[in-house]
Formats: sequence, structure tokens, C-alpha cells
Amino acid sequence: MNRSSPARTRQAAAAPRRGRESATARMERAARIAARLAEAYPEASCSLDFASPFQLLVATILSAQCTDKRVNAVTGPLFTRWPTPEALAAARQRDLEAVIRSTGFFRAKARNILGCCQTLVDRHGGEVPGTLEELVKLPGVGRKTANVVLGSAFGMAAGVVVDTHVGRISRRLGLTRHTDAVRAERDLVKVVPRDHWIAFSHRLIEHGRGVCSARAPHCPGCPLEELCPRVGVVARRPRPGG
Ligand code: SF4
Repeated sequence: MNRSSPARTRQAAAAPRRGRESATARMERAARIAARLAEAYPEASCSLDFASPFQLLVATILSAQCTDKRVNAVTGPLFTRWPTPEALAAARQRDLEAVIRSTGFFRAKARNILGCCQTLVDRHGGEVPGTLEELVKLPGVGRKTANVVLGSAFGMAAGVVVDTHVGRISRRLGLTRHTDAVRAERDLVKVVPRDHWIAFSHRLIEHGRGVCSARAPHCPGCPLEELCPRVGVVARRPRPGG
């Protein structure tokens, strides 16, 4: 890009200098980032297929270290065979493992799903509880899974879901320094407007897939370019002859 292009000039004016941004300025910038993402990705939503909180809970447990596409390929047969928490809690572990094998870590996931469903039956009348405190007590359910279920199945903004895309881009955007998801979420909820918490993650995930990829972020033309300090992004050298 030409050094004097309008985009570069805007970035110099709006992106913070590292370590010099006040808390207020960061909140204002985060609000602008959230608004810009809403314009760029108005339809972004959870990419896991589900028809109930129970289905999303199980799908999210399966999504650890696995693509949503792969999870969606196994949840159809899984919920046809075991459509309720009661039915799934009564499944044999080896039968469940066979169905979810392709999602990876299938033994641990099967164990967690069975334990989770048994707890839903024993303590919650076969219903998925609607609070963070109760959800994180279920076997195999951490804060991220609980936030996914609360946000996408119940429409409740209890926090910001931080997966690898959200963590990576939030660090590049200078909204957190932390690689630990819980600490990163703590930073994000301080600056991202609450009414954006649920969609913010879906939009950053889409942004990470299409623009701000792990290996090669496409900064020129990125809708967040003027708001992003690009922390840790190394400028790519132009290819010879390119
Ligand atoms: S693509 Fe570049 S400018 Fe856009 S969010 Fe990622 S690092 Fe920032």
C-alpha cells in the first residue's frame, strides 16, 4: 500500500500506540470495533447445528479441538439415536465413542457427555440449567462452553466466548495481552459493550476465518484496520516479482 494512502493515515490517527492507551480510550475503541464488526458481519451466528440447549451443550463439548463442520456431521446421527438427556445418559460408553470418534479425544468426550447427561437427569430434571454457576458444575463444561450455551441457546450475555480466533484477534487488536482464555475474557468484558458480547465472538470467529487468519492476516482492506494496532503482526515481505 502507498504510504500516504487514506487508510494508512486513518490508522495512524485512530490505532493506539502500544502501552499508551487509557482505559477510557480503549473502551471507546472497543465499542467502535464492535460496531464495525456488526456492519461487516451482520449475519454471524453460532455455526454449530442445534435445536435445543441440550443439543448445543453436547455439540459444544464435542467441539473442543475439532471443527464445527466435523461436529455437525456427527450430531445428526447422535441425536437421532439418543434424542434426550435421559436417553444419552443411558447410552453405553463404547457405543457413544463409536459415533463421536471422528471428533477426536473421543474417550474423554464420551465420558464427559455421559457424566453431563447423568447430572442433568439427577439434578436438573433433564433440563439444561440457565446460569453460569450451574453450568460450570456439569462434567466437561467449562466457562467457554457455558458462555456458548447461555449466549446462543438462551440469548443471555453472561460473558464473551473466547476461542482461538477470538483470543488471537483480541490480542492483535490490543484488547487483551492474555493467552489464557479466562483472563482474556476478563479483559474483553471490561471494554466490549454488553449488548455486543454474544455476537462479538461469532463475528470475530468469522473475521478470523476470512480476514485475520492465524498465519497471514489481510490487514490492507480489513474493516478494523484503522482501529487495530496489529500487536504481534509481522509485516509480510513482498514476494520477488510480486
Ligand atoms: S487483519 Fe490486520 S488490521 Fe485486521 S484485525 Fe487482523 S491484525 Fe488487525
